[in-house]
Amino acid sequence: MSHSPVPGERVAGYDVSARLDTDYYEVFADVAGEDRDVWNRAKAFVDEVLPRMDGLWDRGEYDVRLARRMGELDLFTDGLVHEGLGYSSPLAAGLVNMEISRGDGSLGTILAVQGGLALRSIALFGSDAQKEQWLRPIARGDVLAAFALTEPDHGSDSVSLETEARREGDEWILNGAKKWIGNGSSGGLTVVWARVSDPADPDHDGKVRGFLVPQESAGYEGRPILGKASLRAIHQAHIRLTDVRVPRDAVLPGTHTFTDASTVLYATRSGVAWSALGHATACYEAALAYAQQRVQFGKPLAKFQMVQERLTQMLDELTAMQLYCRHLADLETGGGLRPTQASLAKYHNTRAARRIASVARDLLGGNGILLENRVMQHMADIEAIHTYEGTESIQALLIGRDITGHSAFA
Ligand code: FAD
Repeated sequence: MSHSPVPGERVAGYDVSARLDTDYYEVFADVAGEDRDVWNRAKAFVDEVLPRMDGLWDRGEYDVRLARRMGELDLFTDGLVHEGLGYSSPLAAGLVNMEISRGDGSLGTILAVQGGLALRSIALFGSDAQKEQWLRPIARGDVLAAFALTEPDHGSDSVSLETEARREGDEWILNGAKKWIGNGSSGGLTVVWARVSDPADPDHDGKVRGFLVPQESAGYEGRPILGKASLRAIHQAHIRLTDVRVPRDAVLPGTHTFTDASTVLYATRSGVAWSALGHATACYEAALAYAQQRVQFGKPLAKFQMVQERLTQMLDELTAMQLYCRHLADLETGGGLRPTQASLAKYHNTRAARRIASVARDLLGGNGILLENRVMQHMADIEAIHTYEGTESIQALLIGRDITGHSAFA
C-alpha cells in the first residue's frame, strides 16, 4: 500500500507492502505438494481480504466474515489430525500462521483462537458426540469458538484459576470470570476451564476441567474489551459466568487436570513463533522497500552504509527466526517436539520480532508511524503475541526449570 499523496511531495507514494518472499537461506525453498498448496491458499486469502481490512484496525471493528472465510478455505485445522477435518502438516500449519500474521495480526489471532485453541481442545479431549457436533462447524468457521482460561486475577498463574463448575444432578453450574478471551463475545461456543466441585467424584474434586458452553446460555455475559492498542480488529472479551447451567455431558471427558489446558497451550506456542515471524517479515520487507524508494541527501536510503548495516541486522534476526520455525515443524513432524523447545522458539521469535519492528519503524521515519504503512500496526500487534500463550518471562522460567532442574515459579 502506498501512503496518501501529500501536497508538494516529489514521490507520489511509497509502496512498502509488496510480498518479497524473503528467504535468504532457502529455509522454505523445498516446501512442495500439499504443504505448498496450503501455503498458497493462505497467501491468496491475505491478498483477497487485506483491502477489506483497511480501517478495521483503526476503528477497532471485528468483521466475523473474515473468520468464516478462513474456515471456507480450510485454514483452521492447525496441524490437527482428525477424521472429517482437512489435514495440514505442522509445516503447512506454521506457514499459514506466518503468512496470515504477515498480512494482519488480528487475522493471525483469529486463527490461533479458533483453530489452535478451541478446535484443538475439542479434538484432543472431546467425546465422540462432542466432536461430531462441533469439530466441523468450528473448522468451517460456521461456529466461532473461544478458549477461556485466563481470569482477571489469574494470568501467568492461571493454574490458580477460580472459576467453579459445581455438579447438581444432571447439570453443571458455572460461576466465575474470564478475561482476554478471543471470540468470547461472538455468539458461538466457549471452552471454559473451571475448577470442579464434585464431592461425588473424588477423582475430579478440585481439579481443572474444560466445559463446552454455548455463549447464548443464560448467565453468560461476554463484553468486548475496549481501548486496546493491539490486535484491534479482533475482539477479546471479558466474560462473567453467573449460574450458567450446562448439561452433564458438556464436560470434555478427556480433561482431568490443569495439565490438559497446558497441553493445548504448548501446541499453540509454536504457532505464536510462526506468527512473530510473519510480523517481522512484513516489517523487514517494508523497511527494505522503503529504503530503496526514499531519497535523502540526494540518494536512496539504501545507499547509506548505516542503513545497509541495519537492514543486515534485521535479515540476520529474520533468518534465525525462520530456522527456528522450520526446525520446530520438523521436530513436530517427527513427533519429538518438547514443550520447552516450543517455548524457546516463542521466546526467541517474539523478542526478535519486537526488535525488527522497532528498527523498521525507525527506518520509515515519520511515515513509519502512519497506520497505512502497516509497520506501526505490526509493531503494536506484536505486543499482544509477546504476552499471550505465556509471557517472555514465563517462557524463560519454563526453559530455566528444564535446563537447571529447579522451578523458580513460586
Ligand atoms: P500477568 O500474569 O499479571 O503478568 C504481568 C507481568 O508479570 C508479565 O511481564 C509477566 O511476565 C510477569 N510475571 C508474572 N509472573 C511472574 C513470575 N513468576 N516471575 C517473573 N515474572 C512474572 N487467555 C485465554 O485464556 N484465552 C484467550 O483467547 C486469550 N487471548 C488473549 C489475547 C490478548 C490480546 C491478550 C493480551 C491476552 C490473551 N489471553 C488469553 C491472556 C494471556 O494468556 C495472558 O495475558 C498472559 O498469560 C499473561 O497474563 P496477564 O496478562 O494476567 O499478566
